[in-house]
Amino acid sequence: MRHNGRPVILASSLPPNLLSLSARGGCALVECPDCGKWRSMKRGMITAHRGPHVPGAEAWPAEFRPSPPRCPGSGQRVRVDESYAEWRARLDAAVREAGQRRGTRVIPRPKPPVPRAVTQMAAR
Ligand SMILES: [Zn+2]
Repeated sequence: MRHNGRPVILASSLPPNLLSLSARGGCALVECPDCGKWRSMKRGMITAHRGPHVPGAEAWPAEFRPSPPRCPGSGQRVRVDESYAEWRARLDAAVREAGQRRGTRVIPRPKPPVPRAVTQMAAR
């Protein structure tokens, strides 16, 4: 498989939650930047896969539906330039930071009165 010609993505530049490294090394999972699904990596590239169905494909019966086209994110080069421990530390820090966030306070406001429909006004 050939790469898709786009510049190499460094694993350390990705958010830690879009990457999954194994403690034993080897298999790495990356979220495809085009279709947003988790894909495995082989030879430093995202494996070839098919993207989402073209719009309107649901209208076809399942047996005649054309298979979805190849995802343009196939063959994206990703260089894993950090160790499992480094990635794990980054992920833990991100999880801790997200856990400290507070939701905004919801202030309930009274809803404005809805005027009656024109037909109802005429009836009065
Ligand atoms: Zn994809």
